[in-house]
Amino acid sequence: MIIMKTDATKEQKAQVVKEIKRYGLRADVSKGKYRTVIGLVGDETKIPFAHFAILPGVKEAMMVETPYKLISREYSKFFEGEGEGLVVKVGNIEIGGDGPIFIAGPCAVESKEQLFKIAEEVKKAGAHILRGGIFKPRSSVHSFQGLGAAGWEKAEEALDWLREAGKRFKLPVVTEVRGEAQVDLAAKYADMLQIGARNMYNQDLLTKVANKNKPVLFKRNFGAGIEEFLSFAEYIAVEGNKNIILCERGILPVGKGKNYTRYTLDLAAVPAIQKETYLPVIVDPSHGTGRRDLIFNMSCAAIAAGASGLMIEVHYNPAEALVDAQQAITPDELKGVIDACQRIHKLIVPGRNEKG
Ligand code: PEP
Ligand code: MN
Repeated sequence: MIIMKTDATKEQKAQVVKEIKRYGLRADVSKGKYRTVIGLVGDETKIPFAHFAILPGVKEAMMVETPYKLISREYSKFFEGEGEGLVVKVGNIEIGGDGPIFIAGPCAVESKEQLFKIAEEVKKAGAHILRGGIFKPRSSVHSFQGLGAAGWEKAEEALDWLREAGKRFKLPVVTEVRGEAQVDLAAKYADMLQIGARNMYNQDLLTKVANKNKPVLFKRNFGAGIEEFLSFAEYIAVEGNKNIILCERGILPVGKGKNYTRYTLDLAAVPAIQKETYLPVIVDPSHGTGRRDLIFNMSCAAIAAGASGLMIEVHYNPAEALVDAQQAITPDELKGVIDACQRIHKLIVPGRNEKG
């Protein structure tokens, strides 16, 4: 990492970038409130730091050893400031800003009517962003795979409904891309692209999505440690796209016998990840528990743990949902969750009450 002096000129910064390229590495230039920091993308052992330290305009040149340096606090503290987090804009909504953000909608888009009805109701309940899966990752090939499985034409029609519903109810929209082939199409319609838990390790998908220059909702794989999760988020960041929202959605449960939750929601991961990175972290209690009767409690707990928002599956008649029926809550229940979470957030954010 090369830390520039606060008064470093454009030419001096360009010179540093040129030198980095000369050593066969790529440069990540971050201009912050305080100063410009230039990160090194590639094998830092090839860099003679003593040489970089004496270039004009350079304050300090040092090696950063973590595998997720570009998204690390160690790096961001020099340009964002100590303890500051990144605010990611999705449409006109800010994630990681003042209040918690609620992403809600059906697990899968099933029809135009279903989507519009849910969109209207989640908006009324206080949600900020609409979700809806069109390319669904499913454990069984025999179950409903999302409307995207019916061919490109149907996929595009469903994506168009999503965009239209978002416009009608003033909600930016997010949808999952399950494979590289879906990225160009989904990016034409969605405000944010989701990479699901099963694809956390899919480097080529991560790179392709990152290059769309849209915010990315990046979900933790159920078997991934925090270091792995952040190391793969770095694949998005090295493409110059830092608009990444990390999502904790549960890890594999332990023990023999019947499991009472679909996954184990790892809420300690929220503050643990926040200590490592300046990216916002949200929680998905729907997949994390697999049980609608646990969503209220775990949502409250997630906000108390410091999450910047939640993603919750909602259906006006959960029993009717074609995918994940057992974990969807009603719009009324969503309203209860949002109200409680807003109150908890005010309590736990220091100074927030005074600010009003
Ligand atoms: C989803 O959010 O629709 C989903 C499939 O979640 P996950 O990737 O966390 O299983
Ligand atoms: Mn689901």
